[in-house]
Amino acid sequence: MYKRCPKCLLSAKVPGADLASDGTCRPCREFHTGRLEEQEAYRGKCEEDLEHALATCSGRGEYDCLVSFSGGKDSVFLLHKLVKEYGLKVLAYTSNFDIPQRTWKNIRQTTRLLDVDHIVYTPPQEFYRRFIRHLLLNQDARGAVHTVCYFWLDLREGDLLRLAVEKEIPLVLSGYSPGQPDPKRMLYEMSQERICEEDWTPHDMFTDGIFRESERHRFWNPKRYPCGTQFPRFLAPFHAWPYDQSEVMRRVVELGLVPNRIHANPMLSNFSLNWLLMYSDLRNLGYNPYLPEFAQLIREGKASLAKWRAMEALVNFMIRKRIFMGRHVNKALKWLDLSLDDLSFSKPIPKSVAPERQPPEPLSFPPIPTYEKITDIEFLV
Ligand SMILES: [Zn+2]
Repeated sequence: MYKRCPKCLLSAKVPGADLASDGTCRPCREFHTGRLEEQEAYRGKCEEDLEHALATCSGRGEYDCLVSFSGGKDSVFLLHKLVKEYGLKVLAYTSNFDIPQRTWKNIRQTTRLLDVDHIVYTPPQEFYRRFIRHLLLNQDARGAVHTVCYFWLDLREGDLLRLAVEKEIPLVLSGYSPGQPDPKRMLYEMSQERICEEDWTPHDMFTDGIFRESERHRFWNPKRYPCGTQFPRFLAPFHAWPYDQSEVMRRVVELGLVPNRIHANPMLSNFSLNWLLMYSDLRNLGYNPYLPEFAQLIREGKASLAKWRAMEALVNFMIRKRIFMGRHVNKALKWLDLSLDDLSFSKPIPKSVAPERQPPEPLSFPPIPTYEKITDIEFLV
């Protein structure tokens, strides 16, 4: 009896894994090279559109584009390309919540080197604590990473859209890499319908008393703007440009944008609360929430099965034991005033995204793993 696919490491517990008698998962059985060709054709179309958008955005306002700048390797490299290769007037924007010191070094070093205007917005920490705590106590069966991160993204993306409208910036660019974020949210481009027509306010959380009326302005709602307001496009350039994670890591160090390879490691530059979210999902889902993403990488021949097997084992060990990087689990629990037993599912998956109504799997590119190459393990411990 197989517990995971021998070809890609996908766990039998992942919905849709459907392991056959030889252990092979359904995605591996259905994988064929034609799919890669389709993906490449789609990427080519996106790249054509992106080049046109970047060529025509300049000179229309104070800034040509607004970049979501988290300090991770992808946003660092994105900023570099836009400033140095495209010569655009870029405004970098950082939402200052739970950013590790190591990542702050990246942020400072990159903005100094590229000499760009940079806005750091520090949201009220108590507001974030309140909704993260509430969401962890009210997770649906998709788990903590899904429940918390996607809500969090709504806030950050809403902040970016508001700033772009205010400053009349035609393009908002994010360093989302292939595999990020959820395809239902956006791939290369956020839909204009989502930007121009949808109210993102979580009304139920206002009814439940989690948020106060005075906090409504924190959520994106295009209906607050007068008729005729020009809304920006929201694009993820790494879904259009050819993307190679190792190459991005190498380049940001080589260009002097980040101090060294440790600083380019996505695991070490990710927000600290992520360790708690992974802990919760490991416990409740029975597998690491990022496993489906890196199984896809392995399946498509873009990652080594042996290295990832070792890396996943190490990461899961640290999380389960709450040691080394896993110590952040305890810190986050304390900050949120939660106990381990509070981490469970209490809500059903919303009907709109329940499995029977999920859209067919859209075209997507090789995902970005949360974990880095095995050669970085020494830095983790
Ligand atoms: Zn497989």
